[in-house]
Formats: sequence, C-alpha cells, structure tokens
Amino acid sequence: MNKVAVAKGDGIGPEIMEAVLKIFNAANVPLEYEYVDMGKWVFDKGYSNGMTPAAQQTIESLGILFKGPMETPKGKGVKSVNVTARKTWNTYANKRVFQTLHGVDTVFSKAGIPIDITVVRENIEDTYGGIEHMLTHDVALSRRFITQPGSMQVIKYAFEMAKKKGTRRITCGHKANIMKLTDGLFLQTFYDVAKDYPELKADDIIVDDLCMKLVTRPDQFDVVVLTNLQGDIVSDLCAGLVGGLGFAPSANIGDHISIFEAVHGTAPDIMGKNIANPTALLLSGLALLRHIGLMESAATIENALLYTLEQGVHTGDFGDKAVQSLNTTEFSEAIIANF
Ligand code: NAD
Repeated sequence: MNKVAVAKGDGIGPEIMEAVLKIFNAANVPLEYEYVDMGKWVFDKGYSNGMTPAAQQTIESLGILFKGPMETPKGKGVKSVNVTARKTWNTYANKRVFQTLHGVDTVFSKAGIPIDITVVRENIEDTYGGIEHMLTHDVALSRRFITQPGSMQVIKYAFEMAKKKGTRRITCGHKANIMKLTDGLFLQTFYDVAKDYPELKADDIIVDDLCMKLVTRPDQFDVVVLTNLQGDIVSDLCAGLVGGLGFAPSANIGDHISIFEAVHGTAPDIMGKNIANPTALLLSGLALLRHIGLMESAATIENALLYTLEQGVHTGDFGDKAVQSLNTTEFSEAIIANF
C-alpha cells in the first residue's frame, strides 16, 4: 500500500486535515499515513527549519508530503517553514488549479462563463531568496535572481502538464518590458521550450494586462506560467474568480519530493472553532491521489464533493448566508453521505 507523510500544520490545519482524512478513510482510499512533526509549534521547540530530523527523514524516504497550512514565525531573520520546505526539496513547480465548481456561486458562474485555469508558479527563485539588506538607514535593497536552469525546469513541467491535459493554450505572464534581464530570461526560456511543443499555442502577456484580462475574460486562459512573486499574486487573484481561498488547491512538484497543500494559510481568526472550509485541502488531497495513480478513489471523492456543493451544502465562509451553513465536521460528513 502507498504511504505518505502527513503534517497537520498550525491554526486550522489539524481541523481541516482531520476532516479530509476522515473522508479518505470513509472512501477506503488505499493509503497509509505517517504523521510528521512540522510547523510553527516545532519551530517553537527549537528546530530552526520548522521540522524535526525524524520528520525530514520520513518525508525524504516517502517522497510525498500532505501538509496543512503552517504559520510563518514573525521577526527579522526568521524564515517561513513553507518556503524552507519548498527549497529544501527543490519543489520547483507550484501548480494551482482553479475551476468553476457548481454550487459555488461567483459573478462568472452566474454569467455562464466557465473557468478552468491552471497557474504554474516558479517556486524557488525570484525575490523569495529573501536576500535583503539596508543600504543606508533609509534605503532597503532586495535582490532578485532568475536562472535559466531554474526557469527551464518549471517551464518544461508546465508544457508537459499542458500537453497531458490536452490544453490548447499556454501563456507566459511576465514583466519583461521593464525587467529586461530577469523576466527577459524567463520569457526567452519559455519560447525556447515552446519550440518542442508545436501542438500547443504558446503566447505571452505582460502581468498587469494579464490581471485585467483575468478579471474580465478568465475563460480565455488555460495554463499560465509565471515567476515566483507574480505567480503568487496572480494565483490568489484566480482563487477569487472561483469562490475564494477555500477552493484553491496546490501541488508543489519536484523530481524527488512533492508537497500537496491548500493555497490558504492557518486562518488564525477562525482556528479552534470547527468552521473552516476543508475543500481546498480536500482538492489538494485529490491531486495527491491522482499524482500517485489512485484515480478511482479521487473520482469517487470528487463526485461526492461536487454533488454536495451542488446541493447547496457548504461551510459558512461563502455563498448564501440565509441558507444554514455547516461546520467543518458536518460538511465532511455530508460529503461522506454522498459516496
Ligand atoms: P489566511 O489564508 O490564513 O487567511 C486569510 C483569510 O481567509 C482569513 O480571514 C481566514 O479566516 C480566511 N480563510 C483562510 N482559509 C480558510 C478556510 N479554509 N476556510 C474559511 N476561511 C478561510 O492568510 P493570513 O491570515 O495572511 O495568514 C495566516 C498565517 O498563515 C501566516 O502566518 C502566514 O504566513 C501563513 N500562511 C501559510 C501558508 C501555507 O502554509 N502554505 C500559506 C499562506 C499563509
């Protein structure tokens, strides 16, 4: 049986992870879980990378980590556990799928405009190196690095994924008109890779224009690949198009280790209340199941989730407030009842 590492995370993490694994168990998903110590609470115990050596060893031997959101410790010089994990295991491609979900009303679903956008964000480079310093007392300097090999690996992944998905269009979002060297290198690499995929329509768009077009005609886009910071911002924008962060899953893909997690954070404002929406983590879990070939289990759970949402059954973070909303536990039980 397949085995994956599970880190429950901080804040609402344990609540939504419990709900998702309950759904997996009810669907008899043939998967074993090895719980690992990772997160802000581990950082607080003195482990500066937010995980114990045993956790790191387990994740490296199993190759798959299913994780809840983790709080970024506050303070200068302290690194995010999430960013550290992505860097440690070179999960260079962050794939985020944003799809219209029936029952989740948005301005676009009401207008009959279907959305199916996959954002592939470079996950390691860019300004996320955190190389910053004060040049003088009133001037702060940040360094941005973009490499050709780093760009190549994420762009190749995006093209391969687009081909497998049967996509018609792949678009590179960038700001190469201003950042001619860094974004210019990313864009050049995009067109170099495009030569190997003549069946795909490859084009590019300046990132500000991309944002404007995404909020007016999101149905024009299929796969969009971007550098790290721009990809981070654009993917939250896309989450808003399909109903918000509660519906935004993500997969951090590397050659040896992949991490599946929701896009959202630890939601400290609602932690411990059992009201968080587990859908984003559940969708991330379904991506995990498909990644390891458990297609049937993924389809069974996805159908039950979609049917539940279509019935108008949901948690209280979105939708018609007049309809009684369910808490996290009740919502997961409603999904299980629809298998
Ligand atoms: P957040 O995503 O935690 O919360 C933003 C808003 O969305 C809040 O109002 C919250 O209640 C709501 N929300 C988020 N997820 C929800 C869910 N599943 N159901 C219902 N409502 C939900 O963003 P934040 O407040 O900026 O960040 C809090 C912490 O999370 C920070 O420490 C941040 O660094 C961390 N974070 C972690 C990850 C990760 O683990 N990958 C990602 C983003 C932020």
